[in-house]
Amino acid sequence: EEPVVAMPTVSRVAVCGGTHGNELAGIYLVREMLKKRADGTEPVSVVTVMSNPRAAQLCVRYVETDLNRCFTRAALSAPVSETSPYEMIRSQELNALLGPKASAQAVDLLCDLHNTTANTGLCLITYSDRDWICLHICKHLQREMASTPVRYVHFDIPLNEAYSLDSVGKHGFAMEIGPQPHGVVRSVIFSAMQEGVQLMMDWICQFNSGTLFEGGWVDVYTMVKNIDYPRDSETHVITAAVHPNLQDRDFCLLHPGDPMFLCFSGETLRYRGKEALYPFFINEGAYYEKGVALSLARKRRVQIPSVRSETLR
Ligand SMILES: [Zn+2]
Repeated sequence: EEPVVAMPTVSRVAVCGGTHGNELAGIYLVREMLKKRADGTEPVSVVTVMSNPRAAQLCVRYVETDLNRCFTRAALSAPVSETSPYEMIRSQELNALLGPKASAQAVDLLCDLHNTTANTGLCLITYSDRDWICLHICKHLQREMASTPVRYVHFDIPLNEAYSLDSVGKHGFAMEIGPQPHGVVRSVIFSAMQEGVQLMMDWICQFNSGTLFEGGWVDVYTMVKNIDYPRDSETHVITAAVHPNLQDRDFCLLHPGDPMFLCFSGETLRYRGKEALYPFFINEGAYYEKGVALSLARKRRVQIPSVRSETLR
C-alpha cells in the first residue's frame, strides 16, 4: 500500500493576470473575476489581482522593466524610491499583498496567468519538480481538459533566484497558454484559460474537503538551456528565422541534425546538440529582446504520491 501524504489545506489562493500587460486572456479573465464579488460563502478565499495595471492600460508588456523578473530576493529587498522603475516598486507592493515571498504569511497558492505567441498549449511553469500540490493540479487538468494539451515545465532555479511572481506563493505556477499574439485575445485561448482556472479551483475545493487524490506519474519538462537567434558577429542583428520545420512544433522532440533556423541568405542551420531535447517557447515574440529564439527541455517521468488534506486525518 502506497503511503498517503497529508498536506495543509490550500485556503488562500491568488489568481493574477496582467503581469505582462499585453497578454490579454489573463487580463480579461481577471477583469471578469473581479466583477463577481465574494459573498462569503466561497469555500476558498481567492484574491484576484491585476499585477501590472499601468502596462495593461497601455497594452504593453511592461512600462519600464519586466515585472516578471522583479521577484528575486534581491529585487524584493532592494531600496526603492519614487524614481525607481515602476515595476520595481510594484513587485514590492505585490510581495506585501501576497507574500512575503514563500513565507508562512504568503498565499497558499499563486496562479499567474500568461500568454505566449508560441504553440505551447497549456503549461504550468514552476520552480519545483516535487511540489505535490502543483503536480496533482497538473494531473487533474491533464485528465479533464479534452482539447488542450497540458504540460508541467520545471525551471531548476533556487527560490532566492526565482524571479517570477508565482514564486511569492507557498505553492505557485505560471499558467502559460498559447499560441496567441500579444495584444490580441482569442476565444479558444481565453476559454482554455478559464477552464484551467476553474479546474484548478475545483481540485482545491475537493482537496480541502478531504478527497483522497491517487498518486501516479507526471511528465516533467525541465528547462536545460535557451538558444539565441543566429546573429551578425559585428552588428548583432539576427540573420535567420526559426526554420519552418520547427515553427509551431513546441514539445516535439528535436534531434541532433534537425533543421533549426532558416537564414535570410537561404541556408538551413541545424541543431548541433548531442542530446535530443524538447523545444518550447519557439519564436516567442517577447523574447527577441531577451535573445531567446527557443528553450530546450529534458523530459522525465516523476512519480507523485497520493495526497489528501491534513484536516481529515
Ligand atoms: Zn507573460
